[in-house]
Formats: sequence, structure tokens, C-alpha cells
Amino acid sequence: MMENVQGPVLRPGDNGYDGERSGFQTSHRHHPDLVVVAADAADVRAAVAHAAAHDLPVAVQAAGHGLTVAAEEGVLITTGRLDEVTIDPDRRTARIGAGVRWRQVIEAAAPYGLAPVSGSFPDLGAVPYTLGGGLGLMSRTYGYAADHVTRIEAVLADGAPVVLTPGDELFAAMLGTRGAFGVVTALEFALVPVEQLYGGGLLFPASEELIEAYLAWTTTLPDTLTSSLALIPTPDRRLAAVRVAFAGEAAEGERLVAPLRQAGEVLDDSLRVMPYTESGSIAQEPSDPHGYAGGGVFLADLPAAAIADSPHVVQVRHLGGALAKPAANMMGHRDAAYLLQIVAAGAWEVPEGLRPLGRFLNFQYGPATADEVRSAFDPADFERLVRLKATHDPAHCFRFTTAIPSI
Ligand SMILES: Cc1cc2nc3c(=O)[nH]c(=O)nc-3n(C[C@H](O)[C@H](O)[C@H](O)COP(=O)(O)OP(=O)(O)OC[C@H]3O[C@@H](n4cnc5c(N)ncnc54)[C@H](O)[C@@H]3O)c2cc1C
Repeated sequence: MMENVQGPVLRPGDNGYDGERSGFQTSHRHHPDLVVVAADAADVRAAVAHAAAHDLPVAVQAAGHGLTVAAEEGVLITTGRLDEVTIDPDRRTARIGAGVRWRQVIEAAAPYGLAPVSGSFPDLGAVPYTLGGGLGLMSRTYGYAADHVTRIEAVLADGAPVVLTPGDELFAAMLGTRGAFGVVTALEFALVPVEQLYGGGLLFPASEELIEAYLAWTTTLPDTLTSSLALIPTPDRRLAAVRVAFAGEAAEGERLVAPLRQAGEVLDDSLRVMPYTESGSIAQEPSDPHGYAGGGVFLADLPAAAIADSPHVVQVRHLGGALAKPAANMMGHRDAAYLLQIVAAGAWEVPEGLRPLGRFLNFQYGPATADEVRSAFDPADFERLVRLKATHDPAHCFRFTTAIPSI
């Protein structure tokens, strides 16, 4: 059994089992019957074929920030050793293994004056991030990470390896559904010609007026400026951090940000010209593993009062620009104006007074209901996904993720 696998195969009680099933998220962990520490794509194929032969469900983990449904049985494939990155500077593409983190792609692309459309946190797994869409630092300029994918290498529920390109139905189905259709072993995607950013943050005391000023400011911006507002409760007061990434001349960035500086008392100002390799400093996210719950909703409009007193960390992402352009993937709600993310230590709810258009699944920490999953997609896309699920994964082998029904 599993005799072709090169990487270790671990069972509960084995040395290394606990370490391998652990991730950045500490609230929940997978607890499978078997962990396959994949060393290459052949190991992934062998693991899925084994699961198919024995009717076992399959979970996948890269860097472990995005756990939704913890596996209590079956096979967990860990992909951290699939860590090769190849940059093709002529085609301006990167090909990466399933376990590569954004930091590795950013560093490999930079010598060619190129950058990936990566997110705020460079330790995230680039493949899982992209399979959930990937809403990044420069997303108003360049769209979702999923919009840039040119080739997917994956293993389907029956253990068959496939290579998918734009135009294949399964290619689109893989992008936005977080692994509901197969285990991706490698991705190829386009890079963008960005060497540096004018970016960083402005920190203010939080208030309803400040939120209103931020929202009004976003309506004045070109697509080259992407920003977010985080409301952060601290023991003595609530803080508001505006994060900015502008892929253009610094003087123009300064000019665009100037009105925002008048929005309140600036407690800290880290705006500067930076090489893209330092873009992880913009959001200053916590880098130690911890427990969290939360989710994200797309909105057409956002009344400031609805979030002004939230007890949780709340983040508003300004959408529009290139995010509104359709692409060969399942990302819904492209006409939304904002995305609201809530990150909580435990139970949380979408604040009252909002009219969510639907969910953004990459920010789903913990299981989503069937209605919440459906709400993430355009209705016609969702019908397509249900049909494809019935054809390609009728036994719901990939059930520890976005729950696409098969009937
Ligand atoms: C601090 C922080 C900041 C974040 N910032 C952003 C952001 O700016 N934009 C954004 O869009 N998202 C963001 N996210 C969400 C993040 O993109 C997802 O949680 C993503 O899944 C994290 O990657 P990971 O390698 O840690 O995932 P993991 O937890 O390892 O995997 C998450 C899920 O992806 C699926 N999966 C993993 N590997 C594969 C594979 N090879 N094939 C098929 N399915 C697979 C599985 O369902 C798995 O449960 C952030 C998350 C955190 C914690």
C-alpha cells in the first residue's frame, strides 16, 4: 500500500505526524488516518489513487493559513516539499510547485524586473491563495491572482493527472473553488512588470468619521491605487490602518494620498517608495501561528456606522478597476465596490445593516454553509460547478474545502 510514495507516510502516533498536520491556523488541525508528505507530483498521484481505491476523502495543506473544514479521517497530502519556482523572463511567467510561498516567487521574479500579483502576506502558499481567487496588493490594477493563471497541473479524484489550460471547463472550475475539483501539483501564471511600489500605511484613531473619509477618498482614485482600511481593537482604543499600494510614480502617489492625510490625526506614517520585495511590510500582519475565525463578504455599498463599533478586526478592501473585468475562472461579484473581512478570535457575524452580495471564500476561516458557498458564485457558474462536481468528484473525495454539491 502506497509503496510508490517517496516522501514519508505518517499515521497518528508516528513521529512527525503532529508537526506535519499543523499549520499557521492553531484553532483547528486536520486529524487524518494518513498523512502523505509528498515529495513530488508522483507522490500526489499515488496518494489520490490510493484514496480513490479505498474510497477515502482527501485533504490538502500547503502553508496552513486557510483551513476551512478539518479532516477527521482519510488522507492529508502536505505539499510543502513541492517548492520549485521557475521564472521565464521572456514569456514573463512563473511555474511553481504546490508548496511554494509568495515570498519565493517575489524573490525569484525581482531580478527580471517582474512581480507576481501577490497578497499582503508573503508567507501564504501561492497555490492555495490563487485557487481561492487571490485578492492582492495591486488587485485594482491587475485583478485577481486567478486572472493571471495560464496552466494548471492537477490530479483528479480518480487519481488521473491532468494539464488544464484556459478554455478547459475544469480550468475555470479550479480557480475560485479552493481545491474542490482536484489537487493542484503546479501552476503557471503571468508576472507583471513591477519593480517598486509607493506604498505603506497611515495609522489613525478609529472613528465613524474616519471610515466615512476613507470611503469617500476611494471614490476619487485611479485603478493604479489599491488600498484597504483595517479597524483594529487594542486594549485602550480602536485604531484605523489605511494600507496603500500604488504601482506608479511616487510623486503621483503622494498627490493621491494627500487628502487622506487630512482625515484625522496621523499616528504613524510608513508610506515610502519600496522595492516590491518589501511589499510584505505594507500590512504588517502577525507572523506567528495563532487561532482565528472569520469570513469575507462582497458589498455594493458600506454604511460606515455598520462597522464603526465592531469588536473584531475588520478590514475593508477597495475593489473595482481590473477586478471588474471577467476572466476564465469562477470569481463572482466582480462589480462589487468593497469587500469586508471580519477576523475574530471566536464566534462572529456579518454586521447588521449591510446587504452582502455574497461570500469571498479565500477569507473563509472555518466551514461555510451551503448557502454561503453558493453565494460566492454567479448563479450560472454555480450550476456549471454542480454539474462538473457530479462528473469529476461524485463521491466528494475533496470534501474538506468549499462544499460544492453534486446534485
Ligand atoms: C494573515 C493572512 C493574510 C491573508 N491575506 C490574503 C490576501 O491578501 N488575499 C487573499 O486572497 N487571501 C488572503 N488570505 C487568505 C489566504 O489566501 C488563504 O487562507 C490561503 O489558502 C492561504 O494559503 P495556505 O498555503 O496557507 O493555505 P492552506 O491552509 O495550506 O490551504 C488552504 C486550502 O486550500 C486548498 N488547497 C491547498 N493546497 C491545495 C492544492 N495543492 N490543490 C488543491 N487545493 C489545495 C485546501 O482546501 C486547503 O484547505 C490571508 C490569510 C491570512 C491568514
